Amino acid sequence: MRRKLVIGNWKMYGRLASNRALLEAILAGVRGLRGADYAVCVPYPYLAQAQSLLQGSNVAWGAQNLSQHEQGAFTGAVAPGMLADFGCSYVLVGHSERRGLFHESNEVVSAKFDAALKAGMKPVLCVGETLAERESGVTEQVVATQLDAVLDRWGAQALSKAVVAYEPVWAIGTGKTAAPSQAQTVHAFIRERVAQHDSQVAQSLCILYGGSVKASNAAELFAMPDIDGGLIGGASLVADEFLAICRAAQV
Ligand code: PEP
Repeated sequence: MRRKLVIGNWKMYGRLASNRALLEAILAGVRGLRGADYAVCVPYPYLAQAQSLLQGSNVAWGAQNLSQHEQGAFTGAVAPGMLADFGCSYVLVGHSERRGLFHESNEVVSAKFDAALKAGMKPVLCVGETLAERESGVTEQVVATQLDAVLDRWGAQALSKAVVAYEPVWAIGTGKTAAPSQAQTVHAFIRERVAQHDSQVAQSLCILYGGSVKASNAAELFAMPDIDGGLIGGASLVADEFLAICRAAQV
């Protein structure tokens, strides 16, 4: 009943020429695949390029971050409306690299989530625990706090227009993927927590897994009942890998 979704997160990689080659290969590879949804979140300077190459195709595009402010004296920041001007469907909020390297708090992430919705984009709310947190047994507590920052402030209905991505920090860019059952446990916990507010929203909520997803492990992850696709970092920069993951999401 829920459609699978695969989103590539290019992080701070790419140049005009390599982006074109990658996007053209992705377009050729997913043409005709109708059983899932696909998107790429590119660096800001390449939004116009993504828009011109992907418009009218079955690959959507988006950004990796946004400001929570509509406009103003925020040097270096990018407003939600600016992303909407370039046709973004999605924007990542609270990616662990933003939380960790740029010190984004749950409050800031929650404000960005709302700003994305107000500008007509789907926020992809990233949540997940560090290795130290998993080892001390507080994974669910950490994920609950990250989720509640949005749920308690904006309500479950706000999640009906959003995507959640469970990304254990210890699995991002490390080559260590969560075991499918390990990821499934947290996905089910997230869905159940949303269900406590609104069971219909919970049932239709798209919950992606992210953290070293590759062609070789995507199918077993996507087979889990509460895993609705993937947020893909490193493997989204390699056309053949990303396309194999896209095919694994096909129903
Ligand atoms: C990510 O950047 O969100 C991510 C999951 O990265 P990777 O797939 O490289 O672990």
